[in-house]
Amino acid sequence: MAGKLIIFSAPSGAGKTTIVHHLLSKKFGLQFSISATTRSKRDGEIEGKDYYYLSLSDFKKKIKEKAFVEWEEVYTDNFYGTLKSEIERIWNEGNHVIFDVDVDGGLNLKHAFGEKALAIFVMPPSLDTLRQRLEGRETETPASIERRMGKAPAEIEKSVDFDKLILNDSLPKAFKKAEKMVRGFLKEKSNKS
Ligand code: ADP
Ligand code: 5GP
Repeated sequence: MAGKLIIFSAPSGAGKTTIVHHLLSKKFGLQFSISATTRSKRDGEIEGKDYYYLSLSDFKKKIKEKAFVEWEEVYTDNFYGTLKSEIERIWNEGNHVIFDVDVDGGLNLKHAFGEKALAIFVMPPSLDTLRQRLEGRETETPASIERRMGKAPAEIEKSVDFDKLILNDSLPKAFKKAEKMVRGFLKEKSNKS
């Protein structure tokens, strides 16, 4: 089947993972694209479910082998990337692919797949709220919160390059908006490639 792609990008802490998990709980025929990363596993994360955790040298080997559709060094020595084999696996299983990737990765995927892909930017209500969410998630050190906050303004500037934008001020509203966008896009028959 000709699968489609739904891309969610946002500054870290804006709520994209929460929205993507919500969409995966719906019967939209979506499957999560598991990225490869060199960052260490967080408590509760599972290999092959949240990420494929690779050593830096294995990741670099895969870059050389051209195994990635896109990859980014999102933070120093923290590489993230989408494996070509992952998209093929999901399409072969008859599903559409949903991504949770950083802003540059999202735009790279959109350029690679064109009309087959819907690129959605999740906008935090403010930088203060973004910081509160990152602190509240309790997954980051103070230094990594600063790194993530430092990138946010430039990421927000790129929101104009996305197909759609969701302001995540209230989760119930953001969920409904995301459902409507995704359902509409998956229903469209004529997605040119
Ligand atoms: P991202 O994947 O963009 O880094 P997450 O989905 O992990 O962001 O969300 C960051 C934190 O903010 C999480 O603890 C999440 O529960 C919380 N959160 C997400 N959306 C909202 C919202 N609309 N209101 C309050 N908290 C939210
Ligand atoms: P985290 O460490 O919080 O899981 O992710 C850090 C950032 O890397 C997030 O913005 C996340 O969306 C992004 N990311 C996750 N997977 C990929 C990927 O495959 N490619 C790119 N470019 N970014 C990714």
